[in-house]
Amino acid sequence: MKLYNTMSRKVEDFKPIEDHKVGMYCCGPTVYNFAHIGNLRTYVFEDILRRTLEKNGYKVKHVMNITDVGHLTGDGDDGEDKLEKRSRETGRSVWDIAAFYTEAFMKDTASLNIKRPGVICKATDHINEMIGIVKMLEDGGHTYISGGNVYFSIDTIDDYGKLAKLNLDELKSGARISVDDNKRNPKDFVLWFTNGKFKDQVMVWPSPWGVGYPGWHLECSAMSMKYLGRHFDIHCGGIDAIPVHHTNEIAQSEAATGEKPWVNYWCHGEFLINDKGKMSKSSGEFLTLSVLVEHGYDPLDYRYFCLTGHYRSQLKFSYEALDHARSARQGLNEKVASLKKDVQPDPVLSEKAASYRDAFYDAMSNDLHAPQALAALWSMLKDQDVSDGNKLALLLDMDSILGLGLDAVEAEKAESVPEEVLSLVKERAEAKKNKDFAKSDEIRDRLAAMGWSVKDTPKGPVVAKIV
Ligand code: AMP
Ligand code: ZN
Repeated sequence: MKLYNTMSRKVEDFKPIEDHKVGMYCCGPTVYNFAHIGNLRTYVFEDILRRTLEKNGYKVKHVMNITDVGHLTGDGDDGEDKLEKRSRETGRSVWDIAAFYTEAFMKDTASLNIKRPGVICKATDHINEMIGIVKMLEDGGHTYISGGNVYFSIDTIDDYGKLAKLNLDELKSGARISVDDNKRNPKDFVLWFTNGKFKDQVMVWPSPWGVGYPGWHLECSAMSMKYLGRHFDIHCGGIDAIPVHHTNEIAQSEAATGEKPWVNYWCHGEFLINDKGKMSKSSGEFLTLSVLVEHGYDPLDYRYFCLTGHYRSQLKFSYEALDHARSARQGLNEKVASLKKDVQPDPVLSEKAASYRDAFYDAMSNDLHAPQALAALWSMLKDQDVSDGNKLALLLDMDSILGLGLDAVEAEKAESVPEEVLSLVKERAEAKKNKDFAKSDEIRDRLAAMGWSVKDTPKGPVVAKIV
């Protein structure tokens, strides 16, 4: 298997630390609001990575954190804690907010068929581990206290910024002015806050440096090392984490343990964008998965849409593109349903069928080229030299990575709805899409005359025998 490593800026052969096992840490959500569909693109990418590793025979220990404290509105330790701010604005407790949005996130990811990470860990449950790392850093001479906060001093290490390839000369001269006067170098960052500026914080804990709370970056170092050890295989996130969050995670983790490298492969997903640029919670329409469902889409339509772009390329969201994804996914479901009616999956592949299987898995194992893999899948379906039994077996097998729920859809749709009825339902959906309501009503009446009812649901049209 090959993976692009942000650290080397190259596609590398993947070699795990321990044979057949992979430790993978993914930065999780900050639970002060719903995830937008841009955030969810990143979790779909991580799920595809995990599934591809599993398909390649690795046992994956997948760890994801829940950020419920310490993530400030500004990346340079400025602003205020996102959860505390939300609490002030809504009058709800920080704990309620965290619990509510964690649950919403879990529901969204489950409906996208994202496999649940083996370990899901909350920052507020790991304060002692974080304090432990600050102590190690203090013992190693990497910290200073200023204005009541404990800072990490980037000048105590010689490779700060290696992931983002930050300009070291610029860093040395402190070229950029810090928003925080207490910092010796503008890139220094807070490990532990006790500063009066944040004195109204509700979530605080005692520490050797006073009552306060941890800096955001600290939690990922503490929890990843707790569950995966001091040295592990893969660390993931969105590309916006490279210049500050992951850069600071690396600095403090390697300084604390004195061992390098902390992580072998850094994998980052590119942004989902819209007309205005990067999709974010503050700009443009705040698009959540529920908004898509309200518009009549299935969450898996969005998953399919994510698969149409390579994870390292920007992907532009539009309803038109989502419509294409929906039609493709429905076509796939219908194909499975019609194959299921006639044949059993035949896993003994002909040479031709095997060549499509190889093309699919080669594309996925080569840095997760999902669009190429989908192209191999569709070519296989169109090839009349591949038997229906092989087609069905391959589709279900490929879906172990795609995660489009083909298994379940097939069982639902395999009831004996005649081809003619299915094709009328499709024609009616097409007419509705084109706003040709006279035609869609006429088809509905024809279906009724044939003894079938059709109902529009957020998951698409549902047909049933009129009893
Ligand atoms: P947050 O909950 O804000 O900490 O973000 C969760 C994840 O979503 C992080 O890994 C971010 O890098 C990622 N992310 C944020 N915006 C986007 C976007 N527009 N497209 C893809 N991923 C994003
Ligand atoms: Zn993180």
